Amino acid sequence: MSIATTPMMKQYLDAKRQHPDAVVLFRMGDFYELFLEDAELVARVLGLALTSREKGPDAVPMAGFPYHSLEQHLRKLVRAGHRVAICDQVEDPREARGLVERRVTRVVTAGTLTDDGLLEPGVNNFLAAVAVGADRYGLAWADVSTGAFELCDVEPRELADELGRLEPAECLVSEDAARGELGELLAARPGMARTTRPGWTFHPAQARETLVRQFGVATLEGFGVDEACVALGAAGALIDYLRETQRTSLDHITRVTPHRRSRTLVIDDVTRRSLELVRTLREGRRHGTLLGVLDQTVTPMGARLLAQWVANPLAVVDEITARQDAVEELLGANLLRKDLSGLLAQCYDIERLTARIATRRASPRDLGFLARSLALVPRLKDKLAGRTAPLLAALDENLELLPELRQTLDTALTDDPPLVAREGGIIRAGYHAELDELREIGQGGKQWIARFQAEEIGRTGIGSLKVGFNRVFGYYIEVTNAHAEKIPANYVRKQTLKNAERYITPELKEHEDRVLRAEERIHELEYELFLKLREQAAQESPRLQRAASALATLDALVSLAAVAAQRRYCRPILVAEPVLEIRDGRHAVIESLGAEGRFVPNDTDMNPQTARMAVVTGPNMAGKSTYIRQAALTLVMAQIGSFVPARSARIGVADRVFARVGASDELARGQSTFMVEMIETAAILHGATERSLVILDEIGRGTSTYDGVSLAWAVAEHLHDINRCRVLFATHYHELAELARSLDAVRNLNVAVREWQDEIIFLHKIIEGAADKSYGIHVARLAGVPRAVIERAKTILAELEAQHLSPDDAPRLMRNEQRRRSSFLQRSLFWGANDHVIEALRQIDPSGLAPDAALAKLRELKGELR
Ligand code: ADP
Repeated sequence: MSIATTPMMKQYLDAKRQHPDAVVLFRMGDFYELFLEDAELVARVLGLALTSREKGPDAVPMAGFPYHSLEQHLRKLVRAGHRVAICDQVEDPREARGLVERRVTRVVTAGTLTDDGLLEPGVNNFLAAVAVGADRYGLAWADVSTGAFELCDVEPRELADELGRLEPAECLVSEDAARGELGELLAARPGMARTTRPGWTFHPAQARETLVRQFGVATLEGFGVDEACVALGAAGALIDYLRETQRTSLDHITRVTPHRRSRTLVIDDVTRRSLELVRTLREGRRHGTLLGVLDQTVTPMGARLLAQWVANPLAVVDEITARQDAVEELLGANLLRKDLSGLLAQCYDIERLTARIATRRASPRDLGFLARSLALVPRLKDKLAGRTAPLLAALDENLELLPELRQTLDTALTDDPPLVAREGGIIRAGYHAELDELREIGQGGKQWIARFQAEEIGRTGIGSLKVGFNRVFGYYIEVTNAHAEKIPANYVRKQTLKNAERYITPELKEHEDRVLRAEERIHELEYELFLKLREQAAQESPRLQRAASALATLDALVSLAAVAAQRRYCRPILVAEPVLEIRDGRHAVIESLGAEGRFVPNDTDMNPQTARMAVVTGPNMAGKSTYIRQAALTLVMAQIGSFVPARSARIGVADRVFARVGASDELARGQSTFMVEMIETAAILHGATERSLVILDEIGRGTSTYDGVSLAWAVAEHLHDINRCRVLFATHYHELAELARSLDAVRNLNVAVREWQDEIIFLHKIIEGAADKSYGIHVARLAGVPRAVIERAKTILAELEAQHLSPDDAPRLMRNEQRRRSSFLQRSLFWGANDHVIEALRQIDPSGLAPDAALAKLRELKGELR
């Protein structure tokens, strides 16, 4: 006998056949059951008990859980990287003739979650799709839980950066592409599920068709989307996948927005991680990041928006200024800010509520949350009225009051609607006449019972006679055994207890039917009314989304203003000229982690003419890396629209920022540090423009000193002469301070250190000029290296210095003053070796030299070259 012999098992296997790559949850009564391998899997992953259906050779492994713990188990399964197909009963079992009809009602995957319990409130959950074009990739991404949907084409080398920015939970790729280079690139991203989809869903014509149908438009150009872009295929495939997995309306995805990289500050993946914008490098936490400092939002939608702002700073002065104006106005109005925060804090996540409403998945409780949030809108609008910053005024406009919906929800819903839709308790009294009537029957029932009980006591003379109800037997009359002989003839025995008997009479039975029918009908009617309400709300989803977005923006702006107030930030002046002038600047994150007032402020002064590059030398632990990061963070903050930790700042808007600081975490992936560093350096040399900002820390560390210094030197020259970007270079190669002698726009800086009784004190103050000592041995002592080793190191150092340093204590690399400012040779690092040749050349007087003598001299000198 095969296991498919029972009709139900056949039904199960059909579902499984349609979703071979998913775990199938099969609804049976009040339980979700799993069979065969799926049962074994959940026994392992969820720790459920494994039982079996049938015994002996036909035994089918089986496991299950009650339907109300679905969310909790879904979460675990999806987190463990599984796809889950939910096979529900799609007809009322009471009405089913024979086997209840079941169907897969949705497939839940990491990138398609909408359930609140499965999502992190303040974090977007993106589903991405990548299409392959002739010379570029097309990328589309959506958050089904909010309705956000964007696309853009990217150069092949930019794809990883974009994925790093979005951190999608899941990424779609066509079968063909999955086998190629793209497949490898995607597989290399831990924490992102990769889902292979049929190639035709990515086909441009098919994708276009899917999209115009989704949006009900004739062309996508109205959204500003170029229909010839590669990303169109990705966007179409994404919607197709959502239709297949969601099996419900996607009404909340009403538009697709082209993402314009040129309008944003481009930040590559390594930079994002090194600057610790949203996640710390080592532990991946949010505490200790820029977002951690800036985020004082009080709603999940505000938190998500601010995270997007931090991940995508702007590059257009006007847009930045608009945010700054709003922050400034809020900063100046302490009371208003507090009021707004107070109101916002009571708002629920309207954005995700709307998404659940539009996908018809919202519960009565969700509608209740929506009603409560909408009730706050008029008060929020009041507070915004008369604001002058254009962004705030626009928010006021977008914050629609939705009076009809608000009114309907208020009058229709109970104060605390339940999570479950079919058990009543949703609709308020007075909203619906039939419902009120039915309820009266239910409640009138209680009065009727009381009267009936009194009458029966009178009629039988049994004072202890009781009328009761239980779920199994319904209504009954209970009489203790002591009164057995007084039982009237029309009492029919229903149940025998130890000391009593329970009876029913035709009259009581009739009443029971009436009450039960009423109750059932109440639940049905409440459910119907709830569906109507949800439908009405769904019709408003575009307006609800606009309101949600206005509230999110307000929350994010209030947060920036609150941080600026608490931490005494200033409003940076943004200009087109690529300058970076910061007075008394601080490192936003380090300052926030340390004790107040302990951070030593420093200036930064860069301009395109005389100070494009700053070479910061100084001992380890002095604060070099903090200083250069602080400059980059300040620029990023300014372009987010935030105020910055400084007394004043004038900042030229950058197109890209590059940061190579601190040990990169690529090491774990098995590439050598040096190789990684060179790949990253190459990206900067190729990508940096006059508007870019580059910060480099200890470049060339992973190789021999000479290699390292040479590379660092050449890289610096290239950045200075060719890229002409702003560069802050932190290094412990003091030789690099010599760059200032041959390059126009280089300034030397170092970090002040005070020596005191053989101790060194780090002052963390940046000063002009190159550092003269490295203090490595001091730092080693601070770190607890044994005294004997320290002493020995000092001796060796003294010997080395005697050998390799010239009398003026400068390294030999570029000692000669006269070598300044000329040809390539003069920039050569290892000049010292040929000094005598130069000297000889210098002695020659060409005018007094015969041609053959000149030739002979040339040969001689050439022979001496090393
Ligand atoms: P380096 O790059 O020179 O080795 P770091 O920038 O890593 O040094 O800084 C070393 C330590 O000094 C860090 O713990 C940092 O928090 C602290 N520090 C750096 N700059 C400052 C400053 N301006 N004020 C206070 N502490 C600072």
